[in-house]
Amino acid sequence: MNVAVIGSGIAGLASAIRLANKGHRVTVFEKNNYPGGKIAQIKLGPYRFDTGPSLFTLPELVEELYKLSGVNIKKHFTYTKLQTICNYFYPDGSRLNFYHDLDKLFNEIRNNTSEDPSNLEKHLKKARDAYLISADVFIFNSLHKFSNYLSDPYKNILFKLHKLDFFRTMHRANRKLFRDKKIVQLFDRYATYNGSNPYKAPATLNIIAHLENNTGAFFPDKGMYAIADSLYRLAVDKGVNFSFNTMVDEIVIRDKRVTGLKIMNDTYYFDLIISDSDIRYLANTMMKHPRKSRINRQEPSSSALIYYWGVKNSFPELDIHNIIFSADYRTEFRKIFKERTLPDDPTIYIFISSKLVPEDAPAGCENWFVMVNAPPDTGQDWNSLVEKTRKNIISKINSTLTSDIENHIKFESYATPVNIEEKTLSTGGALYGNSSNSIFAAFLRHPNFLPRIKNLYFVGGSVHPGGGIPLCLASAGIVDKEIPEA
Ligand code: FAD
Repeated sequence: MNVAVIGSGIAGLASAIRLANKGHRVTVFEKNNYPGGKIAQIKLGPYRFDTGPSLFTLPELVEELYKLSGVNIKKHFTYTKLQTICNYFYPDGSRLNFYHDLDKLFNEIRNNTSEDPSNLEKHLKKARDAYLISADVFIFNSLHKFSNYLSDPYKNILFKLHKLDFFRTMHRANRKLFRDKKIVQLFDRYATYNGSNPYKAPATLNIIAHLENNTGAFFPDKGMYAIADSLYRLAVDKGVNFSFNTMVDEIVIRDKRVTGLKIMNDTYYFDLIISDSDIRYLANTMMKHPRKSRINRQEPSSSALIYYWGVKNSFPELDIHNIIFSADYRTEFRKIFKERTLPDDPTIYIFISSKLVPEDAPAGCENWFVMVNAPPDTGQDWNSLVEKTRKNIISKINSTLTSDIENHIKFESYATPVNIEEKTLSTGGALYGNSSNSIFAAFLRHPNFLPRIKNLYFVGGSVHPGGGIPLCLASAGIVDKEIPEA
């Protein structure tokens, strides 16, 4: 078949590789002049920055694409397991290094918190169990296919639904188990891994902690952009055509079947189309979508305000992933999700890839990606929020690290939700499609295909199973199962 993929985000790349391996002729249309979508990079002087994702879990989903292609991944893409997953700094001046090794972690917990380490063990075991029960149903298969409901994983889950903790919020479950507020806040933070609010999202999402802490957090040896870049090269190697700087204007549908794409004023004919475009953008601009109003009613995930700083100094107390927590987490989420603004005291995430990839910054220097969670764009005054938040975070970083960070910033850039939308077409700059702030979110997320339109498929962070690199890769796997070999 002659297949078109709209968008070269991670799910678009994975879909293209999968279909090329099935013997189809695949063309990827991408409006940007580079592949990767949200996985992107910038250079500021001698510094390189990954501008989007920084946490890499389930690398086996990338490996699977190499295996399918019969290519040895080690020659093209390598990664390392992190021994320190994240460094946490709290407003009371205490800190906690979250180690992968459980003995080291438990010692750290004993020395720095009032928590009983056995509660962490319980929590991580519960998260593992919930992941193993639910992954085949909620992540690796379609939720919208009747025949799936007759398969073993679906039948098994029926008797274990109580283990998925649908009816409490993440925060309630964490508050009930942990006695130290610092540990509650630490595990509540996992809601932000899919752009949600721990005071609303179901405790089922506590499974996110399993991926990072039990199976592990990883980092590509050449930085995050290497994920997209290596998959792009693999796709080219498999014969996929890429048409960059090409905006797809319309998906052409005749008699309930896609027939092609409109680009500028020309129509190109295709047998099958896979869209990796944000589903809201697609429904509002690229086709007459039968579920448009339902799609527009759903709550988007959070976005982010990010500062990229080329820092002329090094900070041994920081690692690759660092969090400086806010004093009032509930207020922070209320500001973001309800008031649609930024708190004065935000939780700050500092990601420094040069800790592991020395060539990302000059010797003795560091590339700081400094991010705070933000609401998606609804017309806020981003110029003033950028300025105000910069002051707030600089003062917080200075007091946490006893430093004068502004003096060390030699190169600077930033990204707002508006910039994220411009680059990726994600409505409002939402990082993960829809939020998971309700127990129905998984079921309301857009399916990977529509029963009434033939040969049109949907992948990527705004459709089932959701946002984040692993789930986007899973969406490509789900669609692959629906498409026959050439
Ligand atoms: P996208 O990356 O959304 O790309 C879609 C592509 O399609 C874009 O390149 C766009 O230009 C193109 N496109 C769309 N419509 C058209 C059209 N009509 N014509 C032509 N081209 C079109 N995930 C993690 O796993 N870990 C993290 O740490 C993490 N942190 C994040 C931090 C930030 C700042 C951001 C922005 C995201 C983060 N994420 C993280 C989320 C993750 O990056 C995304 O879920 C994932 O990369 C989305 O991939 P996608 O396949 O949905 O496509």
